[in-house]
Amino acid sequence: PEPGCYIGRFAPSPTGPLHFGSLLAALASYLDARHANGQWLLRIEDLDPPREEPGASHHILSTLEAYGLNWDGSVRYQSQRQAVYQHGLQQLADKGVAFPCGCSRKQLQGRLHLRHCLNPPDRSQDYAWRFRVDPNSAPLCFQDRLQGRVCLSPANDIGDFVIRRRDQLWSYQLAVVLDDRDQGINQIVRGIDLIDSTQRQLLIYQAFDWSAPQYAHIPVATEANGQKLSKQNLALPLQPDPSGQTLWLALDWLRQHPPVALQYEGNPSVLQWAIQHWQPAALNGIHGLPAPVSFQRS
Ligand code: GLU
Repeated sequence: PEPGCYIGRFAPSPTGPLHFGSLLAALASYLDARHANGQWLLRIEDLDPPREEPGASHHILSTLEAYGLNWDGSVRYQSQRQAVYQHGLQQLADKGVAFPCGCSRKQLQGRLHLRHCLNPPDRSQDYAWRFRVDPNSAPLCFQDRLQGRVCLSPANDIGDFVIRRRDQLWSYQLAVVLDDRDQGINQIVRGIDLIDSTQRQLLIYQAFDWSAPQYAHIPVATEANGQKLSKQNLALPLQPDPSGQTLWLALDWLRQHPPVALQYEGNPSVLQWAIQHWQPAALNGIHGLPAPVSFQRS
């Protein structure tokens, strides 16, 4: 890819069907990329088979297609990238940044810094790999395009975090960085529920000496009671809606003020208008907004 060109992505985990909340993340990242004449890639983050729902990947992809959210290139599946994650872990271990952690949950006792767990990891038992965080490090901040300056203290808020789990599954934090880097992603638009992961990911970028992407964390859609709309909360699966109304409601939720007359003009017209008029700044500083009632459970 040309340097300086926008490359964004949508990276859902197939733990359930696409719902209104995940449509918002898909649509916002899509519009941000297309408004900038950029690429929009799709990656299925199927790292955790026990949490996966059969058919979810298919539902996500076919629903995105039905809405006209067409991605560039072919879909990447994280389940096919084990060797790359293994290599990344090895590099971090060689740099002394990743260490095998032999402590049991009980031995961790809520401690953040776990060097004492290093010696000796009982190699006959399952153990995790952690990313070592300097207990004296200063707060780590980044400039979010929507949320402003966001800081977290790696030493006091994060600590040595898991990059390969005890059950041999790869952590989201490591896999997402290795894939975003490999795919040339330079702009990330995703839900604010992931904002606390960002500093962990920045630490991994730093350890590899890679420049990090820019971030924009959009608000999450909530139920009337303020709870996040999510698969865990049994959010309603989205139906394909060729009329344009669902996309229109998503745009309205994203504070784009779509013209009322556009509401039933069909998905291609709604998307065309939205790409042209995309104004992410309308979401500045917002953390959560209630979903339209038709997409709430009650
Ligand atoms: N796979 C993650 C999720 O569905 C999102 C990853 C990301 O956007 O960084 O919650």
